[in-house]
Amino acid sequence: MRKTELLAPAGDKDALVSAIASGANAVYFGLDIFNARIRAENFTLDTVEESVKLCHAHGVKAYVTLNTQLYNKELPLMLEYVGQLYEKGVDALIVADFGVASLIKSYYPDFEIHASTQASVHNKNGAELLCERLGFARVVLARELDRESIEYISKSDKYETEIFVHGAHCMSVSGQCLASFCMGGRSGNRGECAQPCRLPYTIGKEKGYPLSLKDMTLSSHIEDILNSGAASLKIEGRMKNSDYVGGTVGIWRRLIDQKRNANKQEASTLSALFSRGGFTDGYFTGKIDKSMLGIRSDKDKETSLLQKTEKVELERVGISLNAELYIGKESKLTLTHMGRAVTVFGDIVERAANAPMSYDDVKKNLVKFGSTPFYVKNIDIKMDEGIMIRNSSLNALRRMGVEKLFDMGRKAKGITLEAEKTNTSLDKIKTALFNSIEQIPQNHSYFDIVFLPLEVYFNSKSDKSLVNGIKLPPVVLDKEWDQVEKMLSYAKAQGVIYALVSNIGQIERVKAYGFELMADFRFNVFNSYTLEFINSLGIKRAIVSPELTLAQLRDFKNQSIIAYGKLPTMVTHKCVLKDTVGCDKCKGYIKDRQGAMLYAQGIYGHRCVIYNSVPVYMADKPKDIEWYSCHFIFSDETRDEAYKVIEAYKKGLPTNRGMKRIK
Ligand SMILES: [Zn+2]
Repeated sequence: MRKTELLAPAGDKDALVSAIASGANAVYFGLDIFNARIRAENFTLDTVEESVKLCHAHGVKAYVTLNTQLYNKELPLMLEYVGQLYEKGVDALIVADFGVASLIKSYYPDFEIHASTQASVHNKNGAELLCERLGFARVVLARELDRESIEYISKSDKYETEIFVHGAHCMSVSGQCLASFCMGGRSGNRGECAQPCRLPYTIGKEKGYPLSLKDMTLSSHIEDILNSGAASLKIEGRMKNSDYVGGTVGIWRRLIDQKRNANKQEASTLSALFSRGGFTDGYFTGKIDKSMLGIRSDKDKETSLLQKTEKVELERVGISLNAELYIGKESKLTLTHMGRAVTVFGDIVERAANAPMSYDDVKKNLVKFGSTPFYVKNIDIKMDEGIMIRNSSLNALRRMGVEKLFDMGRKAKGITLEAEKTNTSLDKIKTALFNSIEQIPQNHSYFDIVFLPLEVYFNSKSDKSLVNGIKLPPVVLDKEWDQVEKMLSYAKAQGVIYALVSNIGQIERVKAYGFELMADFRFNVFNSYTLEFINSLGIKRAIVSPELTLAQLRDFKNQSIIAYGKLPTMVTHKCVLKDTVGCDKCKGYIKDRQGAMLYAQGIYGHRCVIYNSVPVYMADKPKDIEWYSCHFIFSDETRDEAYKVIEAYKKGLPTNRGMKRIK
């Protein structure tokens, strides 16, 4: 059995030191760019090297997060950073963007990459595809998975899995949240999340925090998680300080080593370190209910242990030193660190004309490891009598030895990225997603493809002949495939041609039924390389990210954009209506602080989609969207309203409703 890794967050150098001192096997941290916690202090390219060395000296792995979606114009700089991180000995990169992953692997094939939870892997097909097609060695699983799902996906010898065991939850499935982008323009996918889910909302008459989940802890499921097959247990918290990191990691270290659950004292310490009205394990156990919700209360803050205390000092790491100093030969030094020995050679040892060096003189110069994380634990110096070697030569020898201990023999490459080509051979088409057959108006022939959600199509008793496409649910867990495939098979038999897939983990299964595939905006196409990857999987068309601006869209001519409709801001694993107004048809509204009404609708698996309060509207800006295929999303519109929207786009009419523009 391999040893399970305890993986700790480091938002700054102090937290990194605390994580190492408290027994983490690996740490992850971000740079000042390309990183999903852009508000943490983070690291710069200059400080990364020192941090990686510190980790390696202590036998700890260092992972760097490169987990945002990137624009085309950022890719050359990204590759420059990747080259530097490679050279500096970073053990793996945590990546969310498929285009970024494919670029890294094509230039640095032996640089290990891990799929960020932002890559939305929640089934085995997704994990396998990322491993086989993009070379991911590890997949960080979605936080919404239960124990059985984690075990099922983790059973593989092709890739490793990493699971979150402690820290904050997101209300929306990770990588599938547009809430912060829609509500204030700060993109969660770009690392700028403003956490609108922590704000108060009103559902029906009930005002509260229906979108704020408690933090998770699996500290009472130690046996299950150690037996789950997951290779790495991850603690969330790069926004937290070193006290949090040290305290949390220390307790988790004990629990893992002693293979036992947290006792009362440890549980209360974890809670005092940080919680939002206690913890939840709801997704892991499958008990998904109101008790999962919570906010950071005044009481939490009062009992908090998070006062910054004194700096943690790391103990030095013992190494063995062997030196050979023979007259007429190169001086030779061997350092042995954690079982690995490196040897370096320096200046020629001379015969002393007068005043030869003593053993103690030599030793005094060789053991000066003060500026490194090391101290000399065992020393063995073999030398002739009557030698002479300069102090500066001994110092140089020692420095070379230390350098070689850290050297992984990696070199950055000079890379010039070719300008991306876009596939302009595609036809421009119009597509629409409706929520029910009853919603489809008589002018529907405006669209080449009319999509319905697969489960709606399957369950509807109405005439389905207008519908030629089905949309897969955003999330399909492994245990749900039997049911979903039954619906796919039915739709195929009814003559449906097109399938709008939501996730990498759906492609192979849906393709097997013979549908022509199109990728939904949930694939987060921000750059041409992500699109190229999707194309390489046999999907010609994708709806590119609705976060792209008009200027950025120019790289995606003829591909689909969301030209109309309320954007689905969140897809939640927990029904947001169930515990308030109830699940009568699972439709309702959530009111935000400004009084905006967010439409919420239950979907397959009793999950929920929450839409933005106003639609994207571009009917009166036909020039801006003429280069693209246009996708329309109809959510809570009536049939009559849908009719009017289509007429407005035909005629280029303005609207007097609230709206969101593609900027
Ligand atoms: Zn519901």
